[in-house]
Amino acid sequence: MPPSPLNWLLGLFSLDIGIDLGTANTLVYVRNKGIVLNEPSWVVIDKKTRRPLAIGAEAKELAGRTPANIVAVRPIRDGVISEFEITQAMLEYFISKAHEQSIVPIPRPRVVVGIPSGVTEVEKRAVYDAAMAAGSREAYLIEEPMAAALGAGLAVGEAKGTMIVDIGGGTSEMAVFSMGGIVVSRSLRVAGDEMDMEIIGYARNKYNLLIGERMAERVKIAIGSAYPLREEKTFTLRGRNLVNGLPEAVEVSSIEIREALSQSVQTIVDTLKESIDETPPEIIADLMEMGICMAGGGSQLQGLTERLSDELKVRVWLAEDPLTCVARGAGHILEDLEHLKRFLVGLQRGSTSH
Ligand code: ADP
Ligand code: MG
Repeated sequence: MPPSPLNWLLGLFSLDIGIDLGTANTLVYVRNKGIVLNEPSWVVIDKKTRRPLAIGAEAKELAGRTPANIVAVRPIRDGVISEFEITQAMLEYFISKAHEQSIVPIPRPRVVVGIPSGVTEVEKRAVYDAAMAAGSREAYLIEEPMAAALGAGLAVGEAKGTMIVDIGGGTSEMAVFSMGGIVVSRSLRVAGDEMDMEIIGYARNKYNLLIGERMAERVKIAIGSAYPLREEKTFTLRGRNLVNGLPEAVEVSSIEIREALSQSVQTIVDTLKESIDETPPEIIADLMEMGICMAGGGSQLQGLTERLSDELKVRVWLAEDPLTCVARGAGHILEDLEHLKRFLVGLQRGSTSH
């Protein structure tokens, strides 16, 4: 269907936005401008009224430090939209923040939102409604692995097979593409958050030390790894000793943290092996040529590409700017909506034009 003259005119001035609604971080990409916003997907709410009090970076800063009557939540934690109203408030806040930054008072934006693969029809509808309620003129959905692949520059529309592995906070998603479609896919709830949990468990078991999630994430990013490092490092954990209840600092090595992370890394390796096992041989041959591309924050774990290349016998490489692939890929669709529409996710009954 050709666009109406009004829509065509609006299109000339409109703001095109790609959003990565991640379990850990939300990124907003604006066409011709790049990434304009990158904030944690956190909301601090009043427990009684459920009213949001802080969103994004400010909310994450408060997490773990809130008084009894307020709580910090991650509405998309496990890759599902568990809290519709909070998700909506968050999307609204981020879209309006991106919108505010434009110099001319332009019409309401067109938005493409990346959603975790395998979400239910109800959840898809919830994200769509949230994007519309947040003031979008048109809203579209795209599955995250597809957006990540487009953002990483993989030629997903071609007959040759390609593969993306997106390791986020709540979920790791893997997908093999050929001819614009997903041939094999897997989504597992082992990713960055689970790694943090394993570090917390390790510190508790080995040192009787209780550390917070933020501390666990910090040590993971600083010295965590999936493959022996050329130079092993150390990091000082701070928390509470569970025996005497007092504050304590313990120095741990990167070897120990690698051990702590070994289970989650192994689960990711095993799931990847399974998806390769399901991939048709012709496409395996393509993957041997192109390698497997990794995106998402968790893919930056030191030594992960080496470890995976080793175990899978295929070259595994990191996308350029792996954290922003989904947002850029989603935004990319709007550059040529007519042709790229086929990569979007449809909504059942009652949806708009697509
Ligand atoms: P999502 O798409 O689920 O929002 P992201 O792609 O933003 O997730 O990735 C967030 C995850 O990546 C977090 O668990 C974070 O701790 C992890 N992460 C970010 N940088 C690194 C790093 N350098 N090493 C290991 N993990 C990292
Ligand atoms: Mg993501």
